[in-house]
Amino acid sequence: MDLIPSFQIDHLRLKAGLYVSCKYTVGYETLTTFDIRVKRPYQENVMTTGSMHALEHICATYMRNDELWKDKIIYFGPMGCRTGFYLIVAGDFGTEDIYPLVERTFDFASEFEGEIPGATPKECGYCVDMDLAEAKNDAALYYNVLISAKKENFNYPKPRKKKESGKKEE
Ligand SMILES: [Zn+2]
Repeated sequence: MDLIPSFQIDHLRLKAGLYVSCKYTVGYETLTTFDIRVKRPYQENVMTTGSMHALEHICATYMRNDELWKDKIIYFGPMGCRTGFYLIVAGDFGTEDIYPLVERTFDFASEFEGEIPGATPKECGYCVDMDLAEAKNDAALYYNVLISAKKENFNYPKPRKKKESGKKEE
């Protein structure tokens, strides 16, 4: 089997940040998948399932209500490794396009109060596993990553060049 593109990123050198994961063409439409990397792999603790679940509900609801983007949001959901989320939007976009939406989404989540949207047994498959306090904390930490982000937080680490074998190093 072919290795899918997201497994080809060097996660040992990946920082928390906001990245274009991949783009797909479906019919005449391009879909852009963003990597919302909340935690630096192997350097920070991953999010708890309760935090991720609360953030999934809060952020997805916020994005789907955003006047500028709501019609383009295809999917927002957690990565299995619990270091971030994927966001899929209809259209061909870069991180500079989506940055304002992601920034205001996590700003909103970091200060969220009240009932988490869709958090009832009728609306969700396991609504007891939500931790709003952790979610707000993770959102605040990620918001800080975003507002102080540098180039390396918007571009995946470049693949290291393999050393050519058989050549003597001088
Ligand atoms: Zn749910």
